[in-house]
Amino acid sequence: MNLARQGIGMTSQRTRVRMIERLRQKGIVDEGVLAALAAVPRHVFVEEALSSRAYEDTALPLGFAQTISQPYVVARMIEALRAGRDSLGKTLEIGAGCGYQAAVLAQLTKEVYAVERIAPLLAKAKQNLRKIGQVEVRLKHADGQAGLPEAAPFETIIVAAAAATVPPALLRQLALGGRMILPIGGATQYLCLIEHRAEGFVETRLDAVRFVPLLPGVE
Ligand code: SAH
Repeated sequence: MNLARQGIGMTSQRTRVRMIERLRQKGIVDEGVLAALAAVPRHVFVEEALSSRAYEDTALPLGFAQTISQPYVVARMIEALRAGRDSLGKTLEIGAGCGYQAAVLAQLTKEVYAVERIAPLLAKAKQNLRKIGQVEVRLKHADGQAGLPEAAPFETIIVAAAAATVPPALLRQLALGGRMILPIGGATQYLCLIEHRAEGFVETRLDAVRFVPLLPGVE
């Protein structure tokens, strides 16, 4: 795949820079997060027919009734996970989809594990990450509600699909000092930030959001 050839018109560097400016306007201040989003060519991760819209700050369809997350939400979640910490450390993403957010995370930390329950999407994520030269993300076809016990504990857990309540396995796999962020709810959802402190789990409620549901099992 010739990335240079795809880099014309709406997928150009200039459009990408504009997206970063919009994220700043919306309140993202972590320069590391902004640089990570600027470094990942989002057009590689969306359907070719939608590539002209890849740098709009919107969620876009991925197929299989799933969506690639809105850049602002990706930035907001990762910013909340990083605030006041040196590094994200070993990170688990639940709901890799096409691999976009995993690519952003991989700009910020060496060890990224990502699980996805829909096999063809996982294959796509693998392909997309390879296209951009990102070969370090470890992908697994699995139900993320169980976390990833073989690689636990994690300093960071980020969930890209909404659950009614926090999956207990994810709490168990969150290292002491670690942080998890996930959308909670059904028709109305909010972002929940959980810190694993010596005295226990501390939850903070953040923005209202809209994610696809966290579903059981694999397909
Ligand atoms: N992280 C993606 C967002 C994909 S949308 C991005 O960067 O754009 C959320 C994804 O979560 C979907 O692909 C969906 O299939 C997946 N998902 C939902 N429930 C899951 C579960 N229990 N385990 C793993 N993945 C799940």
